[in-house]
Amino acid sequence: MKNTSPKVLLIIISIALAVFVAVGVFVYSGNESIYTAFLAFLISLFTSFIILYFVNTLLISKVNELTNTVKNYRTQSEDKLITYSLKSDNEVTALGDEILAWAEERKNEIERLKKLEVYRKEFLGNVSHELKTPIFNIQGYVLTLLDGGLEDETINRDYLQRAERSIDRMITIIDDLEAISQLETGELQIEPERFDVVALAKDVIEAQELKATSKGIILTVQNDDRAVFVFADRFRIRQVIVNLIVNSIKYGKEYGETKIRIYDMGENVSVEVADNGLGIAEEHLPRLFERFYRVDKSRSRDQGGTGLGLAIVKHILEAHNQNITVMSTVGVGTVFSFTLKKA
Ligand code: ADP
Repeated sequence: MKNTSPKVLLIIISIALAVFVAVGVFVYSGNESIYTAFLAFLISLFTSFIILYFVNTLLISKVNELTNTVKNYRTQSEDKLITYSLKSDNEVTALGDEILAWAEERKNEIERLKKLEVYRKEFLGNVSHELKTPIFNIQGYVLTLLDGGLEDETINRDYLQRAERSIDRMITIIDDLEAISQLETGELQIEPERFDVVALAKDVIEAQELKATSKGIILTVQNDDRAVFVFADRFRIRQVIVNLIVNSIKYGKEYGETKIRIYDMGENVSVEVADNGLGIAEEHLPRLFERFYRVDKSRSRDQGGTGLGLAIVKHILEAHNQNITVMSTVGVGTVFSFTLKKA
């Protein structure tokens, strides 16, 4: 009955009404003539059919109008989660299907907007929390200097230098925030070129040598005897290797070692950054690439970390249609590995 077409319903209702009227006339009319009942049946069938036909035509045109309106809303909608088009011979079922599909799309969109709202709130909370510490520090140093510290030779220079370090920290946070927002909004275009990734790795290691040696850490590029060419954005991939190397120093143990290994895998090239530092417990690994996620918050901040380094790394590699994986054992070390397109 649910899927019966309105036309069939119209005929059934007309016949039922006509039978009902004919039986009534036959039973209640004085002469109880079969002829009168048959005539009543025909008249009733004709009139009910005509009335119902016009009512139906009017209703169906309204239903079709509604179906088209809903359909237009659906095609204009930016929600591309449900892309199937609905087809039904029955106008009423078609309207029902359209409304159901529309409702489902709206539900998905509301869920998506709710998630975005939670993310936005979390992001704002994290940003203000990150900026608060250096701002309060600067405020403290400036107030002390204004309260007479400026004339005190034993602290004035030191406090100014501390304030400058806090300003540097704010600049680092803002640079990382800018990078992540550009990557997330897709504003940042990847500009791929052919380059030697072994040479790039050696270049990064040279630039980070000073930081590493201050902790007695040795940085090396393994199998560096020949060039390995990739097709990627050189500047962004440099940023990826820098972030991974800097992390291996920040979370590495004193007199440890960080090795970059580059493998030619046919279509792709695999780059590994392996350290023998602190390691990361398994429960943290799935969330490691989230913005502001840190295993040890105070250690990260002490080391000048923003909690955005790995999120930036992941975004850059995703923009290259590549991915990054991590393997780690607490107390043994961590290996990050990612792939690049071979050129
Ligand atoms: P951060 O600025 O805090 O270093 P990242 O996004 O670069 O932020 O890293 C997220 C967290 O992952 C770090 O806070 C740290 O706890 C952990 N981590 C990253 N790299 C390493 C590593 N090589 N060894 C141990 N822990 C690491």
